[in-house]
Amino acid sequence: MQSLFQAEAAVTGVLAQVALERSVDVSSTGLTYAVPASLSDLAVGQRVIVPLGRGDKPVTGYVIRLHDAAEQSEQASRKKVTRFKTILSRDAQGLSLPGDLIDLARWIAAYYCCPLGMVLLSMLPAAVKKGTGSVSSVWVSLPEALPQASELSEQSVAGASKSATPRLSPLQKKALELLRESAATGEQWVELKRLSDRAGARSVGPVKQLIARGLLVSQERSGVRATWDEPSPQAADALAAETAANSSNSAVNVSAAEPTPERMELSPSQRLAVEAIGARLGAGFSVNLLHGVTGSGKTEVYLRLIEQLLQREPAAGVIVLVPEIALTPQTVSRFVGRFSGVAVLHSGLTAAQRHEQWRRIRQGRARIVVGARSAIFAPLASLSLIVVDEEHESSYKQDQLPRYHARDVAIKRAQSLGSTVVLGSATPSLESYWNAVHIGASTSTSTANNVTRPMQPRYHLHSLPDRVPGVSLPRVEIVDLSKERSKRAGVHLLSVRLEELLTQTLRDKGQAMLLLNRRGYANYIACPDARCGWMMRCDYCDATMVYHKDGALPTGGLLKCHHCQAQQVLPGKCPSCSRHVTVFGLGTQRVEEEIARKFPRATYSRMDSDTMRSAKDYHTSLQAFGRGEVDLLVGTQMIAKGLDFPNVRLVGVISGDTALHMPDFRAAERTFQLIAQVAGRAGRGDKAGTVVVQTFNPDDPSILLASKHDYESFANREMKLRAEVGLPPATRMARIVCRDTDLVKCVASATELASHLSSANERLGGAVRVRGPMPCPIARVADFHRQQIELIAPDAATLQKLLADLRSAALVRSDAHTAVDVDPVTMI
Ligand code: ADP
Ligand code: ZN
Ligand code: ZN
Repeated sequence: MQSLFQAEAAVTGVLAQVALERSVDVSSTGLTYAVPASLSDLAVGQRVIVPLGRGDKPVTGYVIRLHDAAEQSEQASRKKVTRFKTILSRDAQGLSLPGDLIDLARWIAAYYCCPLGMVLLSMLPAAVKKGTGSVSSVWVSLPEALPQASELSEQSVAGASKSATPRLSPLQKKALELLRESAATGEQWVELKRLSDRAGARSVGPVKQLIARGLLVSQERSGVRATWDEPSPQAADALAAETAANSSNSAVNVSAAEPTPERMELSPSQRLAVEAIGARLGAGFSVNLLHGVTGSGKTEVYLRLIEQLLQREPAAGVIVLVPEIALTPQTVSRFVGRFSGVAVLHSGLTAAQRHEQWRRIRQGRARIVVGARSAIFAPLASLSLIVVDEEHESSYKQDQLPRYHARDVAIKRAQSLGSTVVLGSATPSLESYWNAVHIGASTSTSTANNVTRPMQPRYHLHSLPDRVPGVSLPRVEIVDLSKERSKRAGVHLLSVRLEELLTQTLRDKGQAMLLLNRRGYANYIACPDARCGWMMRCDYCDATMVYHKDGALPTGGLLKCHHCQAQQVLPGKCPSCSRHVTVFGLGTQRVEEEIARKFPRATYSRMDSDTMRSAKDYHTSLQAFGRGEVDLLVGTQMIAKGLDFPNVRLVGVISGDTALHMPDFRAAERTFQLIAQVAGRAGRGDKAGTVVVQTFNPDDPSILLASKHDYESFANREMKLRAEVGLPPATRMARIVCRDTDLVKCVASATELASHLSSANERLGGAVRVRGPMPCPIARVADFHRQQIELIAPDAATLQKLLADLRSAALVRSDAHTAVDVDPVTMI
């Protein structure tokens, strides 16, 4: 059914495929609409409003393809163009996405098995759609704003005023006078409000009358205005540009705004990496893995590469992805300080700031984008280089729809544009390392480039084996916790050795960090009687509850479940035998308590997601630490990453075992990463650093090798083990989790899905291992039972074929019931 106004709209002979911005997939190729004559200049990527359903409800979507009606398939061409509904209009703000992002969205939807509309929804920030912070202002000029100030004669204005109304108030005359003066200096347009102020008017009314009389012409200009606590990137840019203009006439965008006048000399391995990767800039698609130990100066390599690129190609676009948590002022200032035209995107921005940054990028005013995961969707018109710093970070994977991995999306985007990718890490993911050391891997993402170089690994490997000149890697000591108990009585989270080193460090005015990757006070609340065996578990999850102390509460604290929102008070007595319950296990609060007791004079701050509620809290604490106002940081993995504080001389890992026994095949990899990364925070200045790793597993290879900073041995050993049992990176995996509050329904739908997948797999040649259904490691979360199916394929292309079949069978229900995770990074 066509509505009346639909039938009347004049259409062109062009049809548009429109992907609707919705979370349900109407169709993976979009719906077909006729393009009205009024939108004859419509382009791919334009955001439009189209009628949907019987009621022709107006909904937003994106044009993903334009084609001639004649090109339609035979069946469709029998329908007349007029049988399609017509696009109603562009969206109110005229928003659009660059064409390459539309292609990328289609790839993401197919590869990660999610609705295209959902991907498009996450590409354009909500603040941009809403227009948060948009301001429009009225600008005025004398009629026929003339290009040359000299051509503006008094007579023309006087003449105009005579022909209209001869009477002008002194204030209005003053305004015209000012405008003439301003035009004489080359500024034809002045903001109405500013002109009125300068003419001494109390309101804009009198000058506005001049517009009505035809003595002035007006124009509405729109922009985004955001307020910043700290200088906004563009304010910093303006400063950098000024400094650059004063110090040199260089046409290049690179400014000399860094505080140090001389450039630091690169280390030999930094120079090699810059030269080798630099030679590939502008020479087609390539992926470069920069494996540099902590403190080896990876960021300096990125900065030099960007400089090189801009020298050759001043309008080149660059994206630098960093994990959200590493987006400290420390990191940001290194980019903003060195280049102009930098946009910064992170979760701490207000909606208006986010909108402002997006606009600057879309309009080409910012060409270097530094941001967290979703910055990979920055709407740059050209994109020559993408840097993914700390590429191993699991936070690059989004854990809700669309479940994309920003590093892999970066590689895909670069591939389609022929750009250069640099992946940097001290502990590369085994996926990336595998691609850098294995020859002739072939997956669906391999390209013509690889076909011409069949005997090369897919990625180029560059190593920075040493810290920057004058700084060495810290010495690591392992403390066997099982021997600790015999040394002294009582409960001690800090070993004798760690206490000794901490005392020494504080006495020498050094700073220290203590890592425990578990928040709260204690994670086990149980009956002391082993025969009773009672333990406090969440009512809604298959998990224990964690005790959080809170002096502000009358109960002194609360039990919290870390998997759902459940909370309750600590029961005093065991519900089955009435003994007093005991509270044991580890948590950052407990470390904090021990520090307060054993080091009463030390100043410390605790950093975990309970104390750091916002990006601002985090920055404030880090700044205080950086200024030396705090001696000691106690925290979760939040303190393990990317921080560069030269006075940190001691790092203590309270338990190296927290990740080791996770029911996840990446447990060893996570353990190695966490220890190597946090150890990397020590000894970054001129004083040597020491690291203490406390563990019950002193002989575990991931702990031993991390303490020797031996990534290669760890990676080779672990890759071999994974290949033997057929796990990634030797294979590709997808994980499907079925959820239901009803266990029987949950098992039934998982079984149906698994049997469909098994028979589809047989039809397709049987190359995929279909495992399950089986309960997830945490079999119930927030009252939902969880059953999983694992698909393991020899390569991505094989896996994609099976997933495509699954998608077309429409067995995957809403995300709440069936979650498909391609290349999962967590198995819990
Ligand atoms: P990474 O990212 O590899 O951990 P960074 O890039 O943060 O290392 O560098 C660590 C520190 O060393 C920074 O303060 C940086 O300014 C400094 N640095 C980098 N390269 C050099 C160099 N060639 N000589 C001296 N100092 C350097
Ligand atoms: Zn729970
Ligand atoms: Zn009991």
